[in-house]
Amino acid sequence: MIIKTVTKSLDLLAHEALARRLPNNHPEKPKIEQKILSMRSGYRGEKSLVYPLRNLTDKYLIFFGLRLPDGEYHFQIDSFLLSTKVIHLVEVKNHSEEIYLPDNFNQMIQTYKHTARRYPDPRLQILSHEELITNFLTQNKLACPPINKIIVFTNPNVIVKGSLQALKMVCPPEELTARIDAFEERFRTDFFQPRDLKKISRKLLKAHSPHSPDVLNLFKIPPVHLINGVRCPACLSYAMCRGHGWWECRFCGCKSKNAHLETVIDYFLIVKPCITNQEFRKLVGISCPKLATNLLARLKLPFIGDKKGRTYYPPHDFEIWAQQESEF
Ligand SMILES: [Zn+2]
Repeated sequence: MIIKTVTKSLDLLAHEALARRLPNNHPEKPKIEQKILSMRSGYRGEKSLVYPLRNLTDKYLIFFGLRLPDGEYHFQIDSFLLSTKVIHLVEVKNHSEEIYLPDNFNQMIQTYKHTARRYPDPRLQILSHEELITNFLTQNKLACPPINKIIVFTNPNVIVKGSLQALKMVCPPEELTARIDAFEERFRTDFFQPRDLKKISRKLLKAHSPHSPDVLNLFKIPPVHLINGVRCPACLSYAMCRGHGWWECRFCGCKSKNAHLETVIDYFLIVKPCITNQEFRKLVGISCPKLATNLLARLKLPFIGDKKGRTYYPPHDFEIWAQQESEF
């Protein structure tokens, strides 16, 4: 049973929002787009596991992309599966070409067009996650069952090389569910009762804290470089004007009732996680405070303050809310 499904991270969403809010000739744009390609590749890899893992029986609770606290830092687990007997940690890599894992755990080498590139070792990452999840369970006064560690290379064009020992944790995607079931069958004792699983599930979801990066600061981009306005869902130009009860594109004539949703999502992702009526009016290019109040009310955002001085915030499930299309 999937408890937390795969979604784009706030990190990826913020980079995508920044790229679409910068003019095409902005000097930082190629760097941002390069980073988006790499993050999208990771996202595709994680997404490709949903189908095989969905076929597992309901005895597993499945969480994708959990980001949990460890003191002042956080750690992210690609896939976390929990049953009454064991935990499975699945680290996903979507690299292509040839990957070599040496016997000593310290690096992963990718060879592409006769050039070798070094990456952090996924075996070290998963061992560290095992320790961190053990700490998390102990701190939350929960028992810690045996942990199965699996690394999956999801790209169909990858060739993974190394000794049998070096590839012990590596599993082809098509063998993933069999590997999970085989580990499970080694254990007879139940560590948890079904009610414990519910409790752990609640604790994990409560502790999940998505990373919200300050992308403007990351690329040293002043806010004045951003394109304001409401984007047309059809021709993608920032040319939507407010008509009578809808937004209308000056270029292609497309009409939309809620095209301002994307503008507000972009603002929360790029600039700051709150917006006032005045800031909203400036952002979307309208002058009437009452109209701004109505448009913001339509988004059903949490807020504090009275009508004039009201400040609106992203909903608590911002990570999921921010993935929706402008048209809803
Ligand atoms: Zn248009």
